[in-house]
Amino acid sequence: MAEQNKQKLVFKVGTSSLTHEGGRINLDRVEKLVTVLADLCNMGHKVALVTSGAIGVGTGKLGLSQKPSDVPGRQAAATVGQCELMFLYDKFFTQFGHKVGQLLITKEDMEDEKRYLNLTNTFAKLFDFGAIPIINENDAVATEEIVYGDNDTLSAMVACVIKADKLIILTETDGLYDSNPQDNPSAKHIDLVANITQEVLDFAGDSKTSMGTGGMKTKLRAATIATNNGIDTYIIAGQDPKKIYDLLEGKQVGTLFLKK
Ligand code: GLU
Repeated sequence: MAEQNKQKLVFKVGTSSLTHEGGRINLDRVEKLVTVLADLCNMGHKVALVTSGAIGVGTGKLGLSQKPSDVPGRQAAATVGQCELMFLYDKFFTQFGHKVGQLLITKEDMEDEKRYLNLTNTFAKLFDFGAIPIINENDAVATEEIVYGDNDTLSAMVACVIKADKLIILTETDGLYDSNPQDNPSAKHIDLVANITQEVLDFAGDSKTSMGTGGMKTKLRAATIATNNGIDTYIIAGQDPKKIYDLLEGKQVGTLFLKK
């Protein structure tokens, strides 16, 4: 691939795209995603993955019937789930000859100049070493005041730190609709958003899954941050990661939010 076509790509995958109902890992989904991302690295792209799922997977692994409602409970569940997630990412990426590094980030890290610089340098070194950064919020220590709370926003911040070419958010719907397609069968799919206007923001409902955190609102917030920083942003369905190849060939996949 010509050098100019090699891109820096940030992917974000949500809890509901990684787990079955109840929080047990959807191994098929994780493996399919890793296969495509590993292949993109083989093609010469630089890939970073922002992953959710720590709390959801921890909930499933601990055998709890639902996500804990208290903060310490969710934080403890996250520590268990994060291990399981990294174990699997490491295993699957290793299977394809790739190395991964884990970064657990808080909002404070992004807001403190020195830590931000450290983070920038760590990302740069990981890419130099040919390793794939895998990022989550540091849920175990993130308290209310310093929490992003959703990995959509975190993924946009990461995309800014590494000056990504594209931010690609994988979720349960194939992009943005003018109303919630689950409630309204005639909801219209939006292929392209040139400007995230109030009308566009109003398209987003509050839909959330039992294990996930964000909804379309946080994805639009992420798209706003990233596009304002010159990064094309996509919201696509996580069910078939092979669609990412089409996206990189410029075919229409999900919703594209054009960079400013
Ligand atoms: N950091 C949370 C977790 O790993 C996910 C936040 C989100 O769902 O966006 O469980």
